[in-house]
Amino acid sequence: MPAGSYRFEVGSISCAVLSDGYFSYPAPWFFPNAEPGLLRETMESHRLPPDRVLSPYTCLLIQTGRHVVLVDTGGGDSARTTGAIGARLEMQGIRPRDVDTVVLSHAHPDHIGGALDRFGRPVFRNARHVLLESEWEFWTAARTDLGALRLPGDLKKEIEFSARRCLGALRFQVEPIDRETELAPGVRAIPAPGHTPGHLAILLSSGGEHLLNIGDAAVHPLHLQYPAWENGFDLAGATALSTRRDLLERAVAEGMHVVAFHFPFPSVGRVAAHPGGGWKWTPGW
Ligand SMILES: [Zn+2]
Repeated sequence: MPAGSYRFEVGSISCAVLSDGYFSYPAPWFFPNAEPGLLRETMESHRLPPDRVLSPYTCLLIQTGRHVVLVDTGGGDSARTTGAIGARLEMQGIRPRDVDTVVLSHAHPDHIGGALDRFGRPVFRNARHVLLESEWEFWTAARTDLGALRLPGDLKKEIEFSARRCLGALRFQVEPIDRETELAPGVRAIPAPGHTPGHLAILLSSGGEHLLNIGDAAVHPLHLQYPAWENGFDLAGATALSTRRDLLERAVAEGMHVVAFHFPFPSVGRVAAHPGGGWKWTPGW
């Protein structure tokens, strides 16, 4: 097993989580409404640095036999520490032209950046790029309002610029959906708004097994431990919290495995309801 990848099966569906890299963020961007003393104490109790979050970018490769689906593409050359997805796919024996479906959970740069090469051309030339219509409309509108993000202004500008550039280059390959949709047998895209207007979750089901990819509905296991802790990258905070709750309650009720793009690699695990509130994250398949 090459480093930075982890294979498992969901029934008869073959899956691999593939590391695109990581990025280091100031902790308040991830936990804007956490009480600073409690945040510091909690980070230290988990042996984490108190002021930075080293956040992995983890894409999901799905092989159904007939279809090769890639959920999210990583950050491309947006940072020195990202852009490994092409090499990871190659180590799985997948060339970019083999991918027939790219699912964009949303159009933030860490999820869409790897869809273009360094010349700004589509990498996955044979793939339809599926995203929610409301996501496409939000980022391609004459004006995109990111005022609600609790992030520095120049970062908001970068996020908007990147989404417009990537979606523009992908416009002939984009296939918007407007509701829950089966993309391949056992692979469903589910609207999960809040982080962005058209944020998507992905549900895999086969042979009685289920895997729920929650995308950025939670970006750190502490968002499970403290369900009221918001994420500065969420455009609609209250909607994002209720989407997070809906997804995790469903995962608990139906005994699903969960994969979360920004959780510590391999970013797959199980959730259980915590008696004191919130959820407990147990990594591993
Ligand atoms: Zn993200």
